[in-house]
Amino acid sequence: MPQSISRRHLLSGLAATGLGVLFGAGLRRRAFAQDGGLNVVATTGQVADAARNIGGGLITVTAIMGAGIDPHSYTPSEGDLERLFDADVILYSGLELEGRFTEVFDSLRSEKQVVGVAETIPAELRIASPHYPDQADPHVWFDPAIWDYAIAATSVALREADPDNAATYDANAAAYRAEVTSFATTAEATLATVPPERRVLVTAHDAFNYFGRRFGFEVIGIQGISTETEAGVNDLQNVAQLISDRRIPAIFVESSVSPATIDAVQAAVRDRGFDVVIGGQLYSDALGDEGTPDGTYLGMFTTNVNTIAVSLGGSAIGAAPATTPAATPIV
Ligand SMILES: [Zn+2]
Repeated sequence: MPQSISRRHLLSGLAATGLGVLFGAGLRRRAFAQDGGLNVVATTGQVADAARNIGGGLITVTAIMGAGIDPHSYTPSEGDLERLFDADVILYSGLELEGRFTEVFDSLRSEKQVVGVAETIPAELRIASPHYPDQADPHVWFDPAIWDYAIAATSVALREADPDNAATYDANAAAYRAEVTSFATTAEATLATVPPERRVLVTAHDAFNYFGRRFGFEVIGIQGISTETEAGVNDLQNVAQLISDRRIPAIFVESSVSPATIDAVQAAVRDRGFDVVIGGQLYSDALGDEGTPDGTYLGMFTTNVNTIAVSLGGSAIGAAPATTPAATPIV
């Protein structure tokens, strides 16, 4: 789908049916205290999960994008616009991840808190997009030490919107940040079981650059940083040659990206006489189903670490992760 047309469609759609109607209906915002807590709307599952862990039973969190949804290409529906309009706080990841929400967020900033939690990450910690050097790679959740800034920013947004409960948000945030830090140590030890020459992660799109930097993996994303670019034939052939030359045992599909590119690479590697396997499905830009272990940030990350480690010749994390189910309040 040509990007210029879809962008034009979004803008005209917003003006005709979305924000125009909602604003025309007048201010319908509710006082959050009347119906049991701050109404928080988040774009991605990663952001929603941080808010749930920090807000516990004090807030209601809705994630716009569920399992398998690609945030680069997701266009907000009219229902999404209504949810955003009714929210007390809007949390998004940012750094251009949710490119088709920009106009909506800009329209609502004067009404309420609209916070791009990953945009608080200091510039020196960001990785430049390999394709757009003036932009940062938005896939920051795959370095837990960097995602920590986003968790902290989520906490700040909640305490500013609901100062009466600031102490609870602070305590929950401290506990959750400690849990994420501890997980990073476990992940590092697990991924270190992969033989060094096999620490190469081949995926469809470039979602794992922060992961690679943090855990010492070479990362090859065939389609580039956004799913809205397609892999060229030369890209496929170059990657296939590299996999064959280096005898990389496994490559990975992603839950939110079509497997076609990775399937084509596998076929091209086999044409060269080497049999690379599909090592499994990684979560890249979306969590798993809500209410399942993979529907949380730490559960998703645990599954990815185990999938990568085992497929490339290492061993999995021994025990089940100590994560908080998404639906269970902490307080
Ligand atoms: Zn992505």
